[in-house]
Amino acid sequence: MEKKYKLYINGVWVDSEDGSYIDVINPATEEKITEVARASQNQVDAAVDAARDAFDKGPWSRMTPAERSNLLLKLAERIENKLQEYAKVESMISGKTIKQTSNYDIPYIVDNIRYMAGLARNFEGKALKEYVPEGASTIRRDPIGVVAAITPWNYPLMEVIWRAIAAISVGNTVVVKPASLTPVTTLMLASDLEAVGLPKGVFNVIVGPGSSVGEQLAKHKKVDMIAFTGSTEVGKRLMELGSSTLKKVSLELGGKAPFIVFDDADVEAAVQGAVVGGLVNNGEDCANSTRYYVHENIYSKFLNALLRELRKVKIGDPLDETVDMGPLISQSHRERVESYIRKGIEEGGKLTYGGKRPFSKGFYLEPTVIETDNNRSVIVQEEIFGPVWTVLKFKEYDEVIEKANDVIYGLGASVWTKDVTRAIRATRDLRFATVWINEHGPVPSEMPWPSYKQSGSGSSLSTYGLEEYTYIKHVYFDISGATRKSWYYQVYGQK
Ligand code: NAP
Repeated sequence: MEKKYKLYINGVWVDSEDGSYIDVINPATEEKITEVARASQNQVDAAVDAARDAFDKGPWSRMTPAERSNLLLKLAERIENKLQEYAKVESMISGKTIKQTSNYDIPYIVDNIRYMAGLARNFEGKALKEYVPEGASTIRRDPIGVVAAITPWNYPLMEVIWRAIAAISVGNTVVVKPASLTPVTTLMLASDLEAVGLPKGVFNVIVGPGSSVGEQLAKHKKVDMIAFTGSTEVGKRLMELGSSTLKKVSLELGGKAPFIVFDDADVEAAVQGAVVGGLVNNGEDCANSTRYYVHENIYSKFLNALLRELRKVKIGDPLDETVDMGPLISQSHRERVESYIRKGIEEGGKLTYGGKRPFSKGFYLEPTVIETDNNRSVIVQEEIFGPVWTVLKFKEYDEVIEKANDVIYGLGASVWTKDVTRAIRATRDLRFATVWINEHGPVPSEMPWPSYKQSGSGSSLSTYGLEEYTYIKHVYFDISGATRKSWYYQVYGQK
């Protein structure tokens, strides 16, 4: 990692204008590991101007899909060759375990890019056809223009791929504003895009607080679309900011995933899935299983096995390959998560496991299990975004579906059962955009990552995800060659 990082604007690395920098802290050690230039207002404007010019004047937006695709394939190869470096830096800035970043995050990102590079050459739509006798119509798919990609700290690089690389793969240009806590791998990506020959102005990175730099970018008149991944609260604010110029707004927001275990489930498989579903990304994943609804007939068996497995979870240095769980992202975030544990207990929940800080250094927190029978309690309703899980008992199918749906979020959900009829019914009845059966987590590049309710709008990945970054345009050709078309009399003159 470098000692200091600059911003990337219009193909040039630029330093802080007024000498202000943002410290990047390693959450495992609480120590500063690098610093990044903080963008000034002028630099935000310069980044948007660069993206605007690059879009309006080309060449990127006018290149053939094959040309853009080839460049992205080179990028994927470059990241793959530097996998260990990316994985290590991503772990150091975010606290993710190296086990996850090197075996999942970075290889998955490489696959995402290769998929996008291929898909961007394969748009399909309505065929050119005579839908009326005198004309033929078809559909064009055009890039939207300048996309502001505002991304969170929990998947620092992956969210930039899902937002910014998806956008440029179909000809848009972007200004990326990564989370101030974790900007380093986004800047590494900019450097690799430069190395594979991306034209200047297509991919720009500015860094700074969301409340100033993010807002300036989101409401900028020259920005056509906001692609945002982050909290529901900020998502609502961005909808407001985008409304003055009616920007397209694509939002991937918070989640509160239910994990429903019926009494015919393979309990051991459900327990393994529960630990992983709740623990992935240190419990800082929008789709983490956080509400475990367990049928009363197997409740004790499930809970005892869950606690048995949780005791095996190794917490520690994220760079140690044997470690299962690293620290939370920051001191303030850990305090927020701990405040939820206190609220849960105050509201009558029973702290069954964890809840403590295991070490004196680093923002660590034990995985925490709270049993409750109150579906309306704050810890069941609100996104905690840490390893704090509630366990609730249920009896009937309708009861558990109602409780599972009774949150403002609608991102991911899972159902554990051997009864195929019940599983299919649950996929219909659960108001969540991804429903896993006997599993909790996988999202292949070919499948969408959409949202219901206050978890957002739009989608990432799959054809739906790339279409998000395009306008559809109806193109009509007259094929009659007539001076007066047969229907003109309806407006003036006679038949
Ligand atoms: P956040 O606080 O909403 O911040 C996300 C990004 O928005 C950061 O870059 C932040 O900048 C910026 N921002 C904050 N306020 C802003 C404003 N007023 N205007 C413009 N930009 C603003 O979210 P987070 O804490 O980073 O991430 C955690 C959240 O992301 C969770 O709710 C999680 O569920 C969600 N998430 C959802 C998905 C999904 O696929 N649905 C995936 C990952 C994460 P600064 O931080 O630099 O101030």
